[in-house]
Amino acid sequence: MNSEISYVHPSADSPWGTYLSQVDRVVPYLGGLARWAETLKRPKRALIVDVPIEMDDGTVAHFEGYRVQHNMSRGPGKGGVRFHPQVTLEEVMALSAWMTVKTAAVNLPFGGAKGGIRLDPKKLSQNELEKVTRRYTSEIGIIIGPNTDIPAPDVNTNAQIMAWMMDTYSMNVGGTATGVVTGKPLHLGGSLGRVKATGRGVFVTGREAARRLGLDLRGARIAVQGFGNVGSVAAELFAEAGARIVAVQDHTGTIFNGDGLDLAALIPVAREDGLAGFNGGKVIDTEAFWDVPCDILIPAALEGQITAERALKTQAKLVLEGANGPTVPAADDILAERGVLVVPDVICNAGGVTVSYFEWVQDFSSFFWDEDEINVRLDRIMMNALNQIWDTADRHKITLRTATFAVACERILMARQERGLYP
Ligand code: NAD
Repeated sequence: MNSEISYVHPSADSPWGTYLSQVDRVVPYLGGLARWAETLKRPKRALIVDVPIEMDDGTVAHFEGYRVQHNMSRGPGKGGVRFHPQVTLEEVMALSAWMTVKTAAVNLPFGGAKGGIRLDPKKLSQNELEKVTRRYTSEIGIIIGPNTDIPAPDVNTNAQIMAWMMDTYSMNVGGTATGVVTGKPLHLGGSLGRVKATGRGVFVTGREAARRLGLDLRGARIAVQGFGNVGSVAAELFAEAGARIVAVQDHTGTIFNGDGLDLAALIPVAREDGLAGFNGGKVIDTEAFWDVPCDILIPAALEGQITAERALKTQAKLVLEGANGPTVPAADDILAERGVLVVPDVICNAGGVTVSYFEWVQDFSSFFWDEDEINVRLDRIMMNALNQIWDTADRHKITLRTATFAVACERILMARQERGLYP
């Protein structure tokens, strides 16, 4: 039915194809709600915008931007904005859909959305970056808002970009609207704990998974792909718990040190110039990263990184998906067959959106919490969600990914059913 719609049959390993296959796997566990499952396979709304700006050299450049609202049955759309040269509409659709599942998995009163602009931010000056952010915000301003859809940071976007987005939206509506984005600077309605929240959630869920596997974190060897906001914070927390970060990869290179990398020295270098400039480890091939001796693998870069071939190679017993969509479906099956436990993105990296929710609540009430309170609440929400997912996985004898989808999709489709179809 409706097979003329191009996004119904994407390639299997593309982000949207990966997401659709994950939905297909959960349908048998949805009981009577399966009737509504098609809802999950279609974004509610997708906006493509032209973002023209005058560059510093006087030329005019056009960038393509997107905002996709996948599902808002349970509340306003929520999801980050990515600046990357490979951003496509289909990728943003998949990222928005994973947000729908993620917000439901941790039971936040949000739906799922995502945005992006196809550009390489490293090639833009600060002035150009500000212009592109402001024009994009203005263009998507017709569908975002504190009660409708609330963007946040993602790959290559940060608190400064959120401040420009908040200011632009506020100028257009004629009043300061702090609740329109999360991940803002602290003095502009941001929340304590937001910067580290996603990495912290990876750590909290990973620590519990390791405990259940009988894997002692003290001395455990960890390989991390992607050393930005998510990867570097998760690495720091695992290192504090006694683990050794033996391999790290970013877009500039891969380094290995079997005794454990010195993170205090590595993090500032990685932030400035990328890992390739660090001399405290051995530089290895990109592909060699995937079979380094390790106990835990943390993909924290982009989608589609764990292919079938890499899933066959990995020596890890536990995979913690910091990134969104890092494992293609065929690799998921191989990891399951090989007995490698995967804590899926839709619960593993939900710490960021959980503290974004806290930020949004604090903005609305204009009352701000201290960091301890944030971290205690974050840990509690993540642990409750993970335990429920684990029970579901044990009951049906399914993977944690399908169990997370089962818990989340039941909530989403129950909301859909109770609201009924309009008109
Ligand atoms: P970031 O921009 O801070 O860091 C991205 C990292 O990935 C960088 O170290 C970069 O060098 C590396 N990278 C990019 N391309 C690579 C490649 N081809 N090979 C190896 N490394 C590569 O981004 P982030 O916020 O840390 O996000 C990372 C992942 O986590 C994304 O999938 C994002 O969607 C997901 N995520 C982020 C958040 C958040 O709060 N920031 C929340 C949930 C999920």
